[in-house]
Order: sequence, then structure tokens, then C-alpha cells
Amino acid sequence: MGELIRSFNWSATGLGDSANWPAPLKQTVSMMLSINFPILICWGPEYIQLYNDHFRPINGVTKHPQALGGSAKDTYAEIWPTIGPMFAEVMGGKTVGFPDFMVPLDRNGYMEECYFDFSYSPIYLEDGQPGGVFVVCVETTDKVIALGKLNRINDEQAASNEEMSSVNEELASANEELEATNEELASVNEELAATNEELTEAQKTLARNEQLFRSIAVNIPDSVVIVVDKEHRYLMVEGEKMEKLGFARQAYEGKHPSEVGQMERYLAVKHLYDRMMAGERFSQERTTATGEIYYVHFVPLKNEQGDVETGLIIAIDISERKQAEERSAKLASIVETSDDAIISKTLESVITSWNNAAERMFGYTAEEMVGESIYKLIPVDRHDEEPRILSRLSKGDRVEHFETKRLTKDGRLIDVSLTISPLKDPQGNIIGLSKIARDITERKLDEIRKNDFIGMASHELKTPLTSLTAIMQVTSAKLKGNDDPFLAGAMARANTQVKKMTSMINGFLNVSRLESGKLLIEKEPFDLNQLLQEIFEETQLIVNTHTVSLARSGEIPVNADHDKISSVISNFVSNAVKYSPRGNLVEIGSRIEGNMAIVYVKDEGMGIKPQDLSQIFDRYYRVESNHTRHISGFGIGLYLCAEIINRHDGKIWAESESGVGSTFYFSLPLA
Ligand code: ADP
Repeated sequence: MGELIRSFNWSATGLGDSANWPAPLKQTVSMMLSINFPILICWGPEYIQLYNDHFRPINGVTKHPQALGGSAKDTYAEIWPTIGPMFAEVMGGKTVGFPDFMVPLDRNGYMEECYFDFSYSPIYLEDGQPGGVFVVCVETTDKVIALGKLNRINDEQAASNEEMSSVNEELASANEELEATNEELASVNEELAATNEELTEAQKTLARNEQLFRSIAVNIPDSVVIVVDKEHRYLMVEGEKMEKLGFARQAYEGKHPSEVGQMERYLAVKHLYDRMMAGERFSQERTTATGEIYYVHFVPLKNEQGDVETGLIIAIDISERKQAEERSAKLASIVETSDDAIISKTLESVITSWNNAAERMFGYTAEEMVGESIYKLIPVDRHDEEPRILSRLSKGDRVEHFETKRLTKDGRLIDVSLTISPLKDPQGNIIGLSKIARDITERKLDEIRKNDFIGMASHELKTPLTSLTAIMQVTSAKLKGNDDPFLAGAMARANTQVKKMTSMINGFLNVSRLESGKLLIEKEPFDLNQLLQEIFEETQLIVNTHTVSLARSGEIPVNADHDKISSVISNFVSNAVKYSPRGNLVEIGSRIEGNMAIVYVKDEGMGIKPQDLSQIFDRYYRVESNHTRHISGFGIGLYLCAEIINRHDGKIWAESESGVGSTFYFSLPLA
């Protein structure tokens, strides 16, 4: 310890040899050397430095050992302005001290901030005057630095605490914001849910609308309904005729015609789509490759802004209607060119159509007659015909070849043959009548001429026949005694043939009389049963091929034309014989029903089929069959019978079953 000071050559310094130092200095130096703290003594006005070994690190390699023995003013020149005045104060008798006093020092070849707790106190000389400064100095640089660090850390901590709290605040406010956002989100969610519901509802409505569209489209008969967008893509395809036209809904919807292999068809209609999408609404007829005719409506569909966004195409198959139109056009031309008057009218007898022939026949034009009553054409005495015809038609019957007279515009009566049929609507209801009228005036004239001829011929034939009958009666009388069996037989057959001929000629004569209205009914009272008895007896004489029987009953008084009723019964009997095989039974009979007398003739013959039964009383009507072909006749017998009975206010009819037999009846009012 202290070897530095001891070995130091003090004599070269301002202090001189240590042996000559003042005692206070000597004492202080020896004390300094025994203290384990860094001690520095700055002696004299130049502050010559002396320090112990503990002080060496404080001066570092830069100042030690040069400092020893040197002036403090030089050693600490960099801080002398600070410490110099303090040294001066100490030299004035003051003790000065500072804790953690910062001194910038170059101790080790670089400047550093050094901190010291130090105390400067005066070292008194024997005369009581301060001779130097006693410096105790403890370096606190490490402590200060550590403290500084700590403070900094603390500060940082505080700052970071502050930050933390502000972060916390921010977090809290962020939390608040989050909460608010959450609330907003919840409300947005609610809105979304509501929107979702609305969307689902809208989707349902859409689905319903689509369903509605499809069912509307399907229910437009014979149609295809297509909706296209601006680019002509198929949005919807629906309808009864869809498959027929080759549209497949699933393959087409959402596609462009070019995507579904319909380019050719599309190109053919593209210009029409363009017109439609340009806002034009139009319709036109189009024929498909297979020949069907469609009526196509092109309808631009506008959105709320009035722009055409989609186009609606409705194609309706009108092939059948077209054909029907063609058919009715043909029919109309047939009607117009017909020689027969064809007139249609309502059930109320109002004329609805009138053809050219009607104009020629009746003299009225269509303009004059359509809307007029049919009664304009019917003579007043025949007005009851119309309701009768209507009632027959309402039962579903057709009235054919009904011969009557009609009135022309110029007042002539013409003979017409009418065929009247009901006009029905598609449900089968009768909505009117069609009348076909044929002018038969000429035919009628022919008939009159024919009747006149028949009448004349029959009349002329009757005279020689009457003579022949008379001659034969005389001859028969004269031959009564003759034994020649041939002559007797020949006379009997000749008689039969003459009778046949007489009745035939009478028949023709009667027809011609009837037709010309000259058949007179001369009524007289007689017993019908008596007449039946006479005819029965006469028949037995003539007919030997059949068994004829009479169902007898009491007297039946009638007031009638005896001969003509007789010819009716004879006709019934001769037909029964004619139309039934040999050996069969023919029964004649009568009865009274109410105030009517009924006569019948029943046979077991070939019978009559129902379709013939209604016509056998018509003039010249004969049943055409293999059985009847070889049986001679003219079909006038029953016609005459019917006329005769009608004029007696009676009824005539027949019941028959084919192959079983027939029964012919007539009734007469009782007298
Ligand atoms: P015809 O001269 O042909 O006998 P009618 O007027 O007497 O003429 O009879 C008309 C038609 O009625 C006959 O052609 C026949 O076909 C049918 N007819 C009449 N009477 C009978 C009957 N008793 N049985 C079957 N058919 C009959």
C-alpha cells in the first residue's frame, strides 16, 4: 500500500521532498494510505494530487499515473469549470459534498459519464488555514446506471402500463364496439332471416307462378307456349302440342335454340323473334314441316321500365279448324250449286240460310228471306204441317220425301218433296232444322198423266172384261148339263182368272180415282159380321190351298161403304193366302173395343220385317226378297185399303214377325 506515493519522486513536484512536507499533509497522507476507500488529496494552490491505490481505477489508464503529483486543474481540465469553484470554496473552509455527481471523464481512452458520491473537505494547516482539499469519492456509476435502467424500466413499465390501460380502454371500447357490432349483426341476422323468409316466400310465389303458367299453357287446347329472353333463349316451354312439335321442356329450358340442335328451325323464325323483341306484337299463320298449320301470336313482354325483356310465343294448332273451314267451304259450294232448295232455320222457324236453288224455286232472294219466317212459304191450309214436322224431329226422326205444296213469291203453288233433318250442336242438342226442298211439280204432272192413262186404260179394259164375264156366266150356265170334265174345270179356272183380272183392273181404277180425288165413299149401315160371313163363304169356294176359318161373334153395326170395306177384307185375305205356304191356316175374325169395331186376318206365313212393316201401306211398296220375287202384285192393294179406312175415320195396321206370320187389322167406328 502506498508504494506508489512512496516510490514517487516528489522532489520533482511542486510539493518537494516528502520529508519536508508540512505535518498535516504527512498525517493526512498516512491516514489516506490506511483507508480502504479511494482518497484524493489536492494540496496547495495548484492542487497537486496525491491518491491511494483505491483511487487508481477512478483515474483509469488515461490519467494514472500522470495525475500523481500533477495539478488537478490539468488532470480534470474537462470538468475543472465545474469542480474548480467547488475546490475554491473548500479552500475557503467549506466542506462540499454531492451524491451521484456526474463527471464526464476520459479514464480509459474514451469519454464516459461517471457518477460519484463525493465529499470535498479542507485539510487545515497548523495555522488553521486550509492547505489542501481532502477528497473522498465513491464511484456510483454502476448504481446510477442500474437505477437509471430501473427507472427507465419503471418508466417504460409505467408507459407500458399507460399503454396497457389505454389498450385496455381501447379493448373496452372495442368490446363495446364489438357488442354494438354484435347487436347490429344480430339485427342484420334478423333482417337476413326476414329477408330469407321473404325470399322463401318469393321463391314459393315464383314456383306457384311457374306452376300457374304451366297449367295455363297446358290448358290452352292444341297449343305450345314459349317464353324467350332477349338473346332468344328458351325460358319456358309448355303446352299440349309440345312433344308433337319436338320441344323437350327439360332439354330446352335455359338453352338457346342453337344449343339444342334447332338451328334450322330457329333461323327460319329468327326475324320474327327480332320483330317481337323490338316491341312489335303480331300474329301469323305458319305451316310445320309435317304440314300442320299453326296460328302463332308473338307478344313482347315489357318490364316495369317499359323495356322488352322477354317474348311470349303462343302457337295454336288450327289444322283441324282449317280443314273444317275447307270442308264447310266445299259444303257451302255444294249447297250453292245444288238443284235442290236447301234452307236452314231455327226451331222458331226463322230462316237462317237460303241457297241459290231456293231463290230459283221460290223467287225470293237470300236477303229477302234470311231472318223471315218459313210460314211465308207455307199455304195457309197447310200451316199445321210445321208443328207436326217439328214434333217428329224432336223425337229424333228424320222426315224424308214428305210431299206437300208450297207458295212462291209470285203466288204459285208448287209441289215439293221435303227432306228435313235436325241440325245439332256438338253436344247433340237440336238447334235448328235443315230443309231440302225438291220441286216435284213436273213429276206430279207426270203422275197425273200416268194416273189418267191408267184410269183411262182400266176403264176401257173394264168394258170388254164385263162382256167377257157375262159371256162366261152364260157359257157356264149352258154347260151345266155337260159331262165333259175338262170343260167344267176349264170354265172354273177361266172364271178365277177373270175375277183376278177384274180385281186388278178395279185396283188400278181405284188408284187413279183416288189420286184424282174421285174415289167416293158411299156409306150405308150394315152388319160387319154379316159381311165377314159372306167373304168367308166366298173364300172357301175359291181357295182350296189353305184352311180358312172364321171366328164368329155377334152383330157389329157400322155405317160404311159396304163394297169398299168388302174389298179391304178381301185384300187382307188374298194377301194372307198369297204370302203363306200351302196348307196353312188363315183366320178371319172381329171384335168390339170401346166404340170401335175391329176386324183382323191372321196368317202363319212368311211375316214382314220391321223395316218393311212401316211402309207396306205406301203406294207401290212391295217387300223385295227371294220369297216375294215370284209372287205377283203391284203394291197398290194395301195402299188402297189404308186410304179407304182413313176416309172412314178408322185405323189400319199390321203386326208381324218374320217367319212366324202376320195379322192385319182395321178398325171402324161403330154405328
Ligand atoms: P201386292 O200386290 O204386292 O201384294 P199389297 O199392297 O197388297 O201389294 O202388299 C204390299 C206388300 O206387303 C206385299 O208386296 C208384301 O210384300 C207385303 N204383304 C202384304 N200382306 C202380307 C202378308 N199377309 N204376309 C206377308 N207379307 C205381306
